[in-house]
Amino acid sequence: MFLVASHNAHVGLNQAMDVLRSGGSAVDAVETAIRAVEANADDHSVGLGGYPNLLGEVELDAGLMQGHDLTSGAVAALRGYLHPISIARQVMERLPHVFLVGDGAVRFAAEIGAKPATLLTPEAQETWARGLQPELASDDLARMNKRHDLSRWVEIATDPERTRGTVNVIACDRQGHLCVGVSTSGWAWKYPGRVGDSPVAGAGFYADDRYGAAACTGTGEMAIRAATAHSVILYMKIGLSLGEAGRRAMHDLNDLGGRYIAGMNFIAVDRQGNHIGFSSYEDATYLHFAETMEAPEELPRIHIPLRQRWVKVQEDPA
Ligand code: ASP
Repeated sequence: MFLVASHNAHVGLNQAMDVLRSGGSAVDAVETAIRAVEANADDHSVGLGGYPNLLGEVELDAGLMQGHDLTSGAVAALRGYLHPISIARQVMERLPHVFLVGDGAVRFAAEIGAKPATLLTPEAQETWARGLQPELASDDLARMNKRHDLSRWVEIATDPERTRGTVNVIACDRQGHLCVGVSTSGWAWKYPGRVGDSPVAGAGFYADDRYGAAACTGTGEMAIRAATAHSVILYMKIGLSLGEAGRRAMHDLNDLGGRYIAGMNFIAVDRQGNHIGFSSYEDATYLHFAETMEAPEELPRIHIPLRQRWVKVQEDPA
């Protein structure tokens, strides 16, 4: 039994390990850990306190996958509910579908009795407003949803180096089954309705008991284009070791063209329980917590630099 996670999952890993130790399933452990992060208002990249989109609305994405049968559930652009990971789990367990978005996800959340919540904290709202000023005055901010030029603003407001974050958790239970889960509020100041890699199976997460599991944080558009999480698993399926598979998936990201290339990270495990983290940033870490340990250990990720280029089309929206 073990947990492997992004660093911000530390608030939920002890509880998740209790779940595993008491015989709970990998999906129970993943949901438990991620719910703790979603409820943590100090984490501005997940759930409560997450930074909002260009209109000042918090839109959440989450997804999970079980390795024993490759079942998966996800929600995206979900507003007004604190625990998208639990709603994603219910999509997986109750519906013949895998992925609900926007109003449909909200409707389903209400139908299953999920608790509505106000996600925008005063601190996150202040950061949102500051990000759009001084270009926009307070009156303009109040009228953001009347604007017809948001596509111009998204380029100005989105700074790939300071506005992102996601929680990743991989669990292996007593039966040896894997589950991976991911939850995020995505980029701050994103275009309304923008969905990143986090709720997309194969991009932001993937688990297959026969090979391993992987989950991403970072520039979601890149992980979607390179199918990063699935690539890690596929490389292991064709015989590469965990380390080689991860390196190949990082190099695939480096092969992407286009104007919007920035940072990427992922964690991964193989079916023997070996674990690894990769990052395009120096000094990045991840967490590993085995059943025999008293507390999670923080381990360095392997640093593979990506050629950064982030070229804005319009520099001046005025
Ligand atoms: N991958 C997330 C997204 O693109 C954000 C992040 O992890 O930084 O929405």
